[in-house]
Amino acid sequence: MKSYRLIKEYFMERIWVVTAGVLCLMIVDVVQLFIPRIIKRAVDDMTAYRATRESLLEYAAYILLAALIICVLRYFWRRFLIGTSRRVEEGLRNRLFRHIQILSASYFDQTRTGDLMAHVTNDIANVRMATGMGIVAATDAVFLGTAAIGFMCHINFQLTVFALIPMPLIAFSAKYFSKRMHTRYRETQGAFADMTEVVRERYAGIRIIKSYNLEEDSRQRVEEISRRYIRENLSLVRITGAFFPMMLLFTNLSLAIVIVFGGRLAILTTISPGDFVAFINYLNLMTWPMMALGWVTNLLQRGAASLDRIDVILQTPAEIRQPRNPVSGHPARGAIQFQDVSYSYDDNREPVLSGITFTVNPGETLGIVGPPGSGKTTLLNMIPRLYDVCDGFIRIHGTDIRQWDLEELRDSISFVAQEPFLFSGTIGENIRFGNPDADDEKVMQAAKLASFDDSVKALPAGLNTIVGEKGVILSGGQKQRLALARAFIRRSKVLLLDDPVSQVDMDTGRRIIETIRLLEGQQTVIIVSHRLSALRHADQILVMESGRIKIIGTHEQLMASDDYYARTFRLQEMEEANHAF
Ligand code: ADP
Repeated sequence: MKSYRLIKEYFMERIWVVTAGVLCLMIVDVVQLFIPRIIKRAVDDMTAYRATRESLLEYAAYILLAALIICVLRYFWRRFLIGTSRRVEEGLRNRLFRHIQILSASYFDQTRTGDLMAHVTNDIANVRMATGMGIVAATDAVFLGTAAIGFMCHINFQLTVFALIPMPLIAFSAKYFSKRMHTRYRETQGAFADMTEVVRERYAGIRIIKSYNLEEDSRQRVEEISRRYIRENLSLVRITGAFFPMMLLFTNLSLAIVIVFGGRLAILTTISPGDFVAFINYLNLMTWPMMALGWVTNLLQRGAASLDRIDVILQTPAEIRQPRNPVSGHPARGAIQFQDVSYSYDDNREPVLSGITFTVNPGETLGIVGPPGSGKTTLLNMIPRLYDVCDGFIRIHGTDIRQWDLEELRDSISFVAQEPFLFSGTIGENIRFGNPDADDEKVMQAAKLASFDDSVKALPAGLNTIVGEKGVILSGGQKQRLALARAFIRRSKVLLLDDPVSQVDMDTGRRIIETIRLLEGQQTVIIVSHRLSALRHADQILVMESGRIKIIGTHEQLMASDDYYARTFRLQEMEEANHAF
């Protein structure tokens, strides 16, 4: 229950709206309870042959007035209470998203995206239900329930006691069934999501399916998952199918008791026929509060459990944070210095980087080469502090990067990741990610630097072309060049490139490398590349092996002294020469 403090502020903000909502709900309940009293008067008048046209019209007018009040106030309580639960949902979701976003890369390594999505959808939906329908059900269970019992006791206490005997059955079965219905409903939703995903994937991968003759296999997979979805649905239907008739059975059990005992009392004239009819009406009104009583405990328990899970995430601190006394200034003016840096993704495993020491002076270019898995990407990721060193120091402009203002540090770095990631939207928007204020001309200039301008011009809507699932599908090389344009448009002092020409042809690669070379002296560039010709002109080249620096030197020095480098370079040179033929 402690976690309920998370939603307190949203309630306090709308405390008057919530109070008005609960008041409307209570008035609706009271008015509902008066309808049987009007019926009683009408029946008593009729059975005593006192009813006149005027009196019947008067009763009808009362009923209509009550119905009108119920109609209007129901609208308002729904708006106020369900509306508030939607606000709680919105506030909580935004807060959770804001927090998850500041968590460090290592958190995302350990947490599955699916689990995070479940918190943002299912858990928040549970909280919404607890704060919306939870309040409604609790108010009705307590207020409508006790008031109805009060009115029934007013008619006859003994009859009320007998009539209420089956009522706990309603509450207990509502609790039992609503729990099972909820679980089944979740399973059904899960099965539906899985089915949609499988179908989506089969359409997206249709070319592979066709070329590997996997249509039959694909059909079977979809049929299997569709069968599971139907099975889950039928299981839900079995529960809902049993629940409602069972509730009716218990209500009718009460009715039977009332007919036997109430009928006797009516014959003995202890209660009037009007009381008898009113009593039956109260009995029907009691069904909902009893169901609500069973339901509300589940709603609140589920809401509390979900809030606890959300709280755990909100309490998770970001490992990489803004320092307490950040150093401000232009970090990237100075040299980047690694001193005895080691890093391990998992404390129990061998370090991925160890004893890394080098310095890149401002305006210089550092090339990094090495077999896959040797730690090149990890090394690059440490400069914008996606991961922090386990041991050693990284300094920029003489200051430990953990002391620099984090935003300033990241602002001064442009990073092109190995796998270019595009957000859904237009090409222009994707490039502008690097500099939201850039106009179209600047965007095109950046695209030109990345040799991407011809591709943009060839597209039907140019920069306004939508990319991704709903638009054009860009090739790997085009995505890579777009990611480069995104980095170029930032014009930051440090450029980190993780294998930027791996997916483009030789000529384009050469053009891109020429552009990067033009930046020499203006930007500090650290470039990882498997294509060694791209590194040839770097001021220093670092050869990595199993997380360590094997050797560091210029192209000429490495050609003379490092086997791996010289062999790979010659091999690639021959391939490039063949390609030129
Ligand atoms: P390279 O860029 O040279 O291919 P990486 O830096 O990507 O090398 O990877 C170095 C090692 O770290 C590899 O063994 C890889 O499996 C491991 N590794 C990379 N990223 C992660 C991660 N997010 N979590 C755990 N291990 C990782």
